[in-house]
Amino acid sequence: MAAQLLDGKAMSEELRADIARKVAALKERGVTPGLAVILVGDDPASQIYVRNKGIGCEKTGMHSVTIRMPEDTTQQALEGQIRALNADPAIHGILVQLPLPPHLDEAAALAAIVPEKDVDGFHVHNAGRLLCGLPGVVACTPKGAMEMIRRTGVDLTGKEAVVVGRSNIVGKPMAMLLLQANCTVTMCHSRTADLASHTRRADILVAAVGRPGFITADMVKPGAIVIDVGINRVDGRVVGDVDFEHVKDVAGWITPVPGGVGRMTITMLLENTMEAAERTLA
Ligand code: NDP
Repeated sequence: MAAQLLDGKAMSEELRADIARKVAALKERGVTPGLAVILVGDDPASQIYVRNKGIGCEKTGMHSVTIRMPEDTTQQALEGQIRALNADPAIHGILVQLPLPPHLDEAAALAAIVPEKDVDGFHVHNAGRLLCGLPGVVACTPKGAMEMIRRTGVDLTGKEAVVVGRSNIVGKPMAMLLLQANCTVTMCHSRTADLASHTRRADILVAAVGRPGFITADMVKPGAIVIDVGINRVDGRVVGDVDFEHVKDVAGWITPVPGGVGRMTITMLLENTMEAAERTLA
């Protein structure tokens, strides 16, 4: 294996120890950071994510509550629950677990969260602040991926960064963060012509597509930093968007799946919640 492994588990342990220290300091000042997760319906993958978020909170000394709402919850009931949490001083972060059942309006639900408690960074207010280069809450997955890229120690200025995927929750904020780091950024998507001609130029390649093994070794520039955001279930196993077995021999750095970006995503959620609590004291 030529590539160095960017170990999300090890990085997370270090970061979570630091978060736990900051949580302890906040508690001494009378504030226990609190995260509320709203889970509508009983999607099995969502149940696992929500459980892991709760465990993460507990281990770092934060307070967490999971609000379970039935599959047939109305938009009104969901937004009523969000408003109640907006007004609850024990809650500093609110997360609506996605995807919501199809009859619910996701954008309206996210917009109902007050931006200060939007620890997922999905509210248009926070997305807009990122676009404008202003401080705000940054979406957890791209924030975690960026932390992994920074930990390579590579000077990012002037580097070619290619992001495959343009979703509001991963691809677009990821591109903005790379732009802020002075990379030259290309965003690719399902209508991109000759995708490989772009990915092969990438010093930093981020795959957020949702297709197992989509990025193959011939699409990767030797020595590149390859960040695999994908989480795909294949025959009961979780695999990424990158053909890890072959790309690891070409890349300079690579993230594994599992144990890569996914782990860092939850760590960033904990950090965002802790920081939201800190801001209440500012
Ligand atoms: P979306 O489905 O919202 O977006 C996928 C993107 O991939 C779209 O922009 C789409 O393009 C693009 N795409 C699809 N097919 C191709 C193709 N053939 N060539 C180029 N681009 C293509 O997914 P998300 O951004 O929400 O998630 C992406 C992956 O990351 C998923 O596997 C998801 O599970 C995972 N994920 C992981 C997280 C983590 O914590 N590690 C957190 C969030 C997501 P177009 O816009 O044109 O349709």
